[in-house]
Amino acid sequence: MPSFVNPEKCDGCKALDKTACQYVCPNDLMTLDKGTMKAFNREPEMCWECYSCVKICPTQAVEVRGYADFMPMGATVSPMVSTDSIMWTVKFRNGTLKRFKFPTRTTPEGTAEPSGGWESKGDINDQLLISEPDGLGTDLFTLGK
Ligand code: SF4
Ligand code: SF4
Repeated sequence: MPSFVNPEKCDGCKALDKTACQYVCPNDLMTLDKGTMKAFNREPEMCWECYSCVKICPTQAVEVRGYADFMPMGATVSPMVSTDSIMWTVKFRNGTLKRFKFPTRTTPEGTAEPSGGWESKGDINDQLLISEPDGLGTDLFTLGK
C-alpha cells in the first residue's frame, strides 16, 4: 500500500518553500495542497513504499502499510528518528504495542571519515576502489592462479 498522509497530523511543514516529504521522495510524488496546506501522494501507484517520507515527517503524519515480514495485517507502524537511532512502534490490531530501536550510526554526527581511513590515489578514473587492493586482504595478481 502506498504512502498515505493523515491530514489531521500534517501541518504542511509550516509553509516552508518545500515540505520535508517533497524534499525526500525519490519519485517526486509528494505535493502540497496550497489551499488546505496538507500534503498528499499525487501518484500512489508509483510509490515504492520506501518509507523515506514516513521517517522524515516531523509530525508523523505519513503512514505506509508495514511489510508482512515484520508486522501482521491490520497493524500500523510509525518511526521516531533521533540523531543516532530510529525507534519503530508497531501497533497490533488488538492494541498491543511493540517497540524496536536500532542504531543508525556508529560515530557521532559530523565525525564520520568519508574515506574510511584509506588514502586516495588521486585518480578518479582508476578502476580500483579507494580501499583496493589492500582492503581485499589478498594479492590481486595471485587471484585465479
Ligand atoms: Fe505534512 Fe509531514 Fe509532509 Fe510536512 S513532511 S508536509 S508535516 S506530511
Ligand atoms: Fe515517495 Fe517513498 Fe514516500 Fe512512496 S514511500 S511517497 S516513494 S518517499
